[in-house]
Amino acid sequence: NSKVRIEDLHKTYLVKGGRTVALQDVNLTIGKDEFIALLGPSGCGKSTLLRIISALIKPSSGKVLISDEQILAPSRDIGIVFQQAVLLPWRNILDNVLLPAEILRLDMKKARERAYQLLKMVGLEGFEKRSPNELSGGMQQRAAICRALVHNPSMLLMDEPFAALDAMTREELGFELLRIWDIEKKTIIFVTHNIPEAILLADRVVAMSPRPGRISEIIEIDLPRP
Ligand code: ADP
Ligand code: ADP
Repeated sequence: NSKVRIEDLHKTYLVKGGRTVALQDVNLTIGKDEFIALLGPSGCGKSTLLRIISALIKPSSGKVLISDEQILAPSRDIGIVFQQAVLLPWRNILDNVLLPAEILRLDMKKARERAYQLLKMVGLEGFEKRSPNELSGGMQQRAAICRALVHNPSMLLMDEPFAALDAMTREELGFELLRIWDIEKKTIIFVTHNIPEAILLADRVVAMSPRPGRISEIIEIDLPRP
């Protein structure tokens, strides 16, 4: 019952004067509705892996299968959260959250209902018509999570989503994410280099360690969920 199958993935970037091997021999299977944390030092290829899974970039070789289908173009079944919320400052919070629904031409009446429901779930009820720059960093990131979920994707990719936040906000958002995961049932890939965060949130931690020659060795740790 796997959601994501990563097979023999290689990625080489062409750079001035040569090439950088970012991923080599990466194999990984992620179950449906599983919450995995991808842990590893800066430069080990975590973002590259997420970008390939979301089809923002192509692998040099190997493939990614999502629900048994090879992903060749960005899929509407994926929501992405980056380190920075990057909300459009000229749109209010609600209209920022609705952006994917507009792009995907979804039924806007339904999307608006869902946006209100998601914003309520993360404690942003009453802030729908506010401008992003009136909100704290933590609140902006909450809105970014709602934006990633508004089109109801089955998979959520998160690239160090809480790294720019202070410790307390980070913890709050972690627990909110777990609550969302409990209610919404998503496959979550959560990139972090915060070990306690990975252990607290995920039910499996996948540690990528760079080796000479940049082979990413994946060490999997299964964690009992409290
Ligand atoms: P991480 O997210 O774990 O920090 P990255 O996937 O960003 O790792 O990077 C892996 C390696 O690939 C690094 O050596 C990085 O410098 C290189 N890299 C990442 N993106 C690019 C790019 N667009 N062009 C060239 N090299 C890149
Ligand atoms: P992260 O660790 O989150 O990947 P980075 O600071 O490594 O962040 O990368 C930030 C951006 O710079 C990314 O878009 C990445 O693709 C790009 N990048 C990283 N390394 C290189 C590189 N050696 N050459 C060109 N672009 C790079």
